[in-house]
Amino acid sequence: MIRPLVVLGATGSIGRQALDVARRLGFPVAAVVARSGSDTLATIADAFPEASIGIVAPIGSERERFAAYGSRVRFGPDASVEFAATPGTIVVNGIVGAAGLRPSVVALEAGNRLALANKESLVAGGPVVLDALRRGGGELIPVDSEHSAVFQCLSGEDVGSVRRLIITASGGPFRGRTRDELENVSPAEALRHPTWSMGSRITIDSATLANKGFEVIEAHYLFGVSYSQIDIVVHPQSIIHSFVEFEDGSVKAQLGEPDMRIPIQYALTCPQRLAGGSVAAPSSWTLTFEAPDRASFPTLDIVIEAGMRGGSAPAVVNAADEIAVGAFLTGRLGFLGIASILGQTMERVPKVDVYTVDDVMQVDAEARSVANTLIGGAC
Ligand code: NAD
Ligand code: MG
Repeated sequence: MIRPLVVLGATGSIGRQALDVARRLGFPVAAVVARSGSDTLATIADAFPEASIGIVAPIGSERERFAAYGSRVRFGPDASVEFAATPGTIVVNGIVGAAGLRPSVVALEAGNRLALANKESLVAGGPVVLDALRRGGGELIPVDSEHSAVFQCLSGEDVGSVRRLIITASGGPFRGRTRDELENVSPAEALRHPTWSMGSRITIDSATLANKGFEVIEAHYLFGVSYSQIDIVVHPQSIIHSFVEFEDGSVKAQLGEPDMRIPIQYALTCPQRLAGGSVAAPSSWTLTFEAPDRASFPTLDIVIEAGMRGGSAPAVVNAADEIAVGAFLTGRLGFLGIASILGQTMERVPKVDVYTVDDVMQVDAEARSVANTLIGGAC
């Protein structure tokens, strides 16, 4: 079961937690890749001296600094793709954004197990990823907590007997606020997630509920269920990670502390389970549920609508969101502006069919450019 790991996005929230799990369980680390050659990457490179190191976009003096690691280091955008293709490995994809798509496809084409946190791979390029899975004979195991939950609930089940998936959402830091109360929220407030500690993009996406829309698209491709069979329920405690309802009226759920190391570990070891985290006594739980507020958080339905349109539409809405979240974090766009940029970009970029990674990346570039122009015009 133990196979060498390739950790893409190694310096991020998922990447660092995957390396924690690897160290604890004794998985060797074949390669780590990050966007830049930060201090965090140097610490990781020293902690895993057997690992090759990829730096996709070195800035400043990083190239000179990491040259000291000699033949262990690869610079440039091909580093993720080269390491993802290493045969016989488990590739943990913790890259943020559509940049994760090509490495996902390459990992599956090489017949590797892909432990997928990078939901953008499936959002932007769902059919392309599924085609690579069929052709390469690799394994696609979700890391996203909700999808890990559904995957675990479906173990031993026939997907044809599923009536409905019920994906849980924490509701984010602004749960209970009206649209007017969201007008002037700051990036610092939006970054204060109540239950999960994650990278900045997904944290903002959790505040707008765009993340839950992306997860609906991710579930559609992972489990082959139609959009009408996927519901969302807000569950602020983030203990139940999702439910599956079957034709006979039975409902399964997967529970656990909100700790990404649990789904990461399961993606590495499944179908086996190794010793890991613990859970508080059930008597200490209060589990509550409510409907998502679709009027205050319109990005949820904009993203799901893109999923239902299919073709290039989800890649467009993802690219628009990457740009809009970046603009919000740097003070160039208000919180409510994010939904408006997503909606407008979707209407402006015509829907086409996408068959290859290049098709997706072309649409991604066009949508980014449209979103940037819209934001420029909004200032
Ligand atoms: P993060 O911002 O903390 O880390 C992103 C990592 O990706 C960094 O190591 C960065 O260097 C690297 N990176 C960025 N651009 C790259 C590129 N072009 N090529 C190679 N590496 C690049 O992000 P995160 O929170 O760890 O999220 C990573 C992915 O996992 C996202 O798709 C997110 O939606 C998903 N996810 C995260 C969590 C979580 O708890 N953090 C939970 C579920 C899903
Ligand atoms: Mg999730």
